[in-house]
Amino acid sequence: MSEDSIYQSLRGSLGYLRLAAAAEALPAELDYAQKMKLGHSAFLGRLLEVEVAATEERRRAGLERFGRLPAPWRVEDFDFDAQPSVDRAMINELATLRFLEDATNVLFIGPPGVGKTMLAVALGRASIDAGYRTYYTTAADLVARCHRAALEGRWATTMRFFAGPRLLIIDEVGYLPLASEAAAALFQVITQRYLKGSIALTTNLGVGSWGKIFDDPMVAAAMLDRLLHKSVVFNIDGDSYRMRTHRARSERLRPRGKPDGDK
Ligand code: ADP
Ligand code: MG
Repeated sequence: MSEDSIYQSLRGSLGYLRLAAAAEALPAELDYAQKMKLGHSAFLGRLLEVEVAATEERRRAGLERFGRLPAPWRVEDFDFDAQPSVDRAMINELATLRFLEDATNVLFIGPPGVGKTMLAVALGRASIDAGYRTYYTTAADLVARCHRAALEGRWATTMRFFAGPRLLIIDEVGYLPLASEAAAALFQVITQRYLKGSIALTTNLGVGSWGKIFDDPMVAAAMLDRLLHKSVVFNIDGDSYRMRTHRARSERLRPRGKPDGDK
């Protein structure tokens, strides 16, 4: 076999095995190996490395797309000094992702603007970066999706979907009251993940008010029971961070030397 036909056949084999990155890198790697007088194993090692890197990148991009995180927030971006009611050490502990190992849930409870979504998303970011399948949804989207699934006869598939991710983020529970069908969907998602997979959940309602979101207080109680059994709960209070930046901006814009009316 001539050099050329060996090369063609090698390239063909790499293509057949779907090692596209290695196939593409082949000519350059062959030249490099010749120039540097690499042995067979060093050459093969370099070629496979190219394919491993490409596979990892594909996997990472896939997790990223799948996750649907609404913002690029990271734990490091959170201003803990502005929000003293958030236990920094506990957030840092959660960011190690050990909580995913025993399916611990994380609840962020508090009024609008205090950073609940930011913290949940930042944990999601850490989870994706560590290679865990992670999925972000609002409670309203989850419920709408389950509703569609029920109509289209895809209930079981959809339930399996929500059972799948290692971390499921359910944002904004309680902003809208949930009718009994919606509550049943949320209840089933929570129940089937119970002790199997972590949920990070944000809500504006204190645990005591959960009965208000749902028509049926028994469903609310059962849901909370499962969520809280193994959980870390953050009760965040204080001012909205949005309002705070808004205030700081208007204070900067206020002319100097003028008496400050509301002090
Ligand atoms: P919530 O979900 O509690 O309503 P968000 O997480 O959406 O609040 O936060 C509102 C906005 O304020 C976001 O842009 C968020 O990045 C920012 N924010 C809130 N708290 C903090 C904080 N402690 N440090 C930095 N940014 C914050
Ligand atoms: Mg929010």
